Amino acid sequence: MNRAELLARVADRGERWDVLVIGGGATGLGAALDAVTRGYRTLLLERGDFACATSSRSTKLIHGGVRYLRQGNLALVCESLRERELLLRNAPELVKPLAFVVPGYRWWEKPYYAIGLGLYGLLSGGTLPRPQMLSREKTLAHLPSLNPQNLRGGELYYDAQFDDARLAIAVMQAIAERGGVPLNYVRVSSLLKQNERICGVRAVDLESGTENEIEARVVINATGVFSDSVRRLDDSNAPQMLAPSQGAHIVLPASFLPGDAALMIPRTDDGRVLFAIPWLGRLLVGTTDTPVREIAPEPRPLDSEIDFLLEHITRYFTKNPTRADVLSVFAGLRPLVKNVETQQTSKLARDHVIEISRSGLVTITGGKWTTFRKMGEDAIDAAAKVGELEKRASGTKNVRLNNRCNTEQSELLHAGLPYRSGDVLFAARCEMARTVEDVLARRTRALFLDAKASIEMAPRVARLLASELARDENWECQQVRALTELARDYLPP
Ligand SMILES: Cc1cc2nc3c(=O)[nH]c(=O)nc-3n(C[C@H](O)[C@H](O)[C@H](O)COP(=O)(O)OP(=O)(O)OC[C@H]3O[C@@H](n4cnc5c(N)ncnc54)[C@H](O)[C@@H]3O)c2cc1C
Repeated sequence: MNRAELLARVADRGERWDVLVIGGGATGLGAALDAVTRGYRTLLLERGDFACATSSRSTKLIHGGVRYLRQGNLALVCESLRERELLLRNAPELVKPLAFVVPGYRWWEKPYYAIGLGLYGLLSGGTLPRPQMLSREKTLAHLPSLNPQNLRGGELYYDAQFDDARLAIAVMQAIAERGGVPLNYVRVSSLLKQNERICGVRAVDLESGTENEIEARVVINATGVFSDSVRRLDDSNAPQMLAPSQGAHIVLPASFLPGDAALMIPRTDDGRVLFAIPWLGRLLVGTTDTPVREIAPEPRPLDSEIDFLLEHITRYFTKNPTRADVLSVFAGLRPLVKNVETQQTSKLARDHVIEISRSGLVTITGGKWTTFRKMGEDAIDAAAKVGELEKRASGTKNVRLNNRCNTEQSELLHAGLPYRSGDVLFAARCEMARTVEDVLARRTRALFLDAKASIEMAPRVARLLASELARDENWECQQVRALTELARDYLPP
């Protein structure tokens, strides 16, 4: 994939786009994919890297959401489970079934979870195995390091797990393969209007500083927690729509939870669900739910969030992890849509919301990774009306999403991680990686799996990237400095 060629198409003022999407996270990618499958001329502009914000910091679950079942939101659970089926079929290299065990320590817990998860299994359809009650022995066979004291048994159920940033790259490639133009490092700075209707955007290529006016029949705002700032480019008085909440994760060595299953803790002290999930040879533990006022591009896990996670899993494990065991910590911001009537932030819906402004800006936000395809379909249904595009059906239900990887043997970059020099070159040539962070955080997941190792890999990755992208030594040094500074925030204080 050649970014310069894609950029040249944007600079060519002759092309008027049917659909222009702002934001290259799950939501924007889902919308752009839907638009290209309908044959619309489609441009996606992302100011950072694809999935650089919330969409690379999820709990990596493609799920119906057991928590929403408890809240009685059956419609959301059913929709998510339908999307889970589609993703298991269309992206089998990236979305895989995973067994979860809910341990029961009190007499009522086993039957209680069996009823709830039995319903979840019934709603799930046929692809994954049905939930099962487990004896104490079988529970420990699945989770050998679970605290056995007073354990009565457990409930086994299935959901799916994925690699969020890699799925984003697969969607980005599917868009480009169908003639769409997905561009990273291009920021939308303002909206163009004619007769008070939006007719395009002004955008800056952050690598060259070049600014372009780009015309489009309809503009979609898919900027997640940043949606309000784009809505205010349209209408400076637009009321706030989002009430973001931060979720933090810690990553531990896999040895803390050997076995073949993930642990689901059904109720934390603040009434949440918590997961400890085997992921890419490590153990991912999360998440928290902390309302935030400031929307930081690089949110940092709070000390109290790390303590909360360590404290809760310590209650369930025989081997107690401490801060010294933590390999990486990361946080993401949920784009939760405010309940306009109550202004409450605690029980906000995870459903997505579409708003069409008076001047025709289509904002889509909320939702979750699991439903990104359906969100894209709904956004393009709305956008086609606003842009008066020829009515055509969505084709995303059958789009295969591939995890194309480097297959050539090459030098290992770090003894503790499986990534090779060929992966760096492949990321630059075929996946539009532009920086050391793009490679270590999202094309590989080194930063999330082991922050210290990623600092150690940075100079080698910078050298390889510099040779591939024709950059000089100054660039290389600046890249290593930037990655080192960033990775320090991924280590617990
Ligand atoms: C802690 C946590 C755990 C989660 N776990 C799960 C899970 O396990 N399963 C699940 O299904 N969902 C999960 N979610 C939800 C899911 O991750 C999000 O709903 C989804 O990633 C949001 O995607 P988005 O595209 O709307 O936002 P983002 O990923 O934030 O993308 C918005 C993009 O817009 C770009 N942008 C902003 N302004 C501009 C501009 N002016 N010009 C160009 N680009 C711009 C930003 O750079 C950003 O990349 C989780 C969320 C969190 C926070």
